[in-house]
Amino acid sequence: MAVRTTSDIMHVPFASLAHLHQDVAADLDRAWRDVLNESAFIGGPWVERFERDWAAYCGVGHAVGVANGTDAIEIILRALGIGRGDEVILPANTFIATAEAIILAGAEPRFVDVDPETLLVTPDAIREAIGPKTSAIIAVPLYGNMPSMREITELASSRGLVVIEDAAQAHGSTWDGASAGSFGVAGSFSFYPGKNLGALGDAGAIVTNDERLADRARTLANHGRPAGSHHSHELQGRNSRLDSIQAAFLSAKLPRLDSWNEARRAVVARYTQLLDPEVGRQVRVDERAVSSYHLFVIQVSDRDDLRRGLAELGIETGVHYPVPCHLNEPYRQFAGDRLPVTERASEEVLSLPLFPHMRPRQVEYVAGWLNELVVGRGIRGS
Ligand SMILES: *Cc1c(COP(=O)(O)O)cnc(C)c1O
Repeated sequence: MAVRTTSDIMHVPFASLAHLHQDVAADLDRAWRDVLNESAFIGGPWVERFERDWAAYCGVGHAVGVANGTDAIEIILRALGIGRGDEVILPANTFIATAEAIILAGAEPRFVDVDPETLLVTPDAIREAIGPKTSAIIAVPLYGNMPSMREITELASSRGLVVIEDAAQAHGSTWDGASAGSFGVAGSFSFYPGKNLGALGDAGAIVTNDERLADRARTLANHGRPAGSHHSHELQGRNSRLDSIQAAFLSAKLPRLDSWNEARRAVVARYTQLLDPEVGRQVRVDERAVSSYHLFVIQVSDRDDLRRGLAELGIETGVHYPVPCHLNEPYRQFAGDRLPVTERASEEVLSLPLFPHMRPRQVEYVAGWLNELVVGRGIRGS
């Protein structure tokens, strides 16, 4: 490889929130001033407005703002009466929060393996894992890529089980034209700042078509108080509310979500054109799905060496996730059999830089160096 000088090095961040916020800075300023003028910080018009708009965006009847995406899952489970003695099936290839929420609700996680091409949960794996204690399935559109949602919901209803979608990475993803979060009995979202739609702090939401479930979730998240009541605590609840200021920021950003997702898809399309197929296997996206591309994941050998090589060239990458959920110490007690696909994926997955404002020359630089480092046919090789 040719000798490199520092002037050749281009810094490519893994993601950039600063660019994104420049797009909406004026709207965020206005949102902040509106909330300050009104000085209603919990509940009130901004929360109601965002809940209405987010439900409409997802094509469902109701959205309930909560404090974060983990609480959203836990509150859905509690609102459904799922807890002690129940088992909840989830893919082992997910962020730890999916398992965490099941345990917080008092139930037991039952980890299943994923498809080797999509790295997503499959109806077959779920079918095999269903047992006498199973009461729910959490499907996860990881990286923004949708699993076979229709088959999963059909399987669940044929067995008398409910499906919950942990759509924390899938704002704006669709399957057969229907939105992430709208398939099961309820869906959960996180608006952690780095998600495709992010607050300026922690935030989350529950979406559902079931009005009673929405009411129950709202009551649980507000100290067990049903709507309109201040001193009557009908359920043993907790505090997990969406702040008005975060709701106002989210409303300011929501109109841009589709164009930001489009920009992510354009970056992925360019990567796909440029990357030599021998660099690694791209995680497959089903033809029926449109991905939000929260992450763009390839599977490579010698992943950690490659990451170091890319870092020396100024290229930041991520790994989602280096330790599968079931192999983290506190969760090993729930790990049944080995889950070979998830376990191998944890050694091979590499998330490439991806954000809506990524410049074409940054994509070319990353793809060029990947081709060079792995296949010897890149920037310097041609
Ligand atoms: C981010 C994330 C969560 C948790 O969201 P928080 O808002 O951080 O609690 C849950 N599940 C998945 C798949 C996530 O990516």
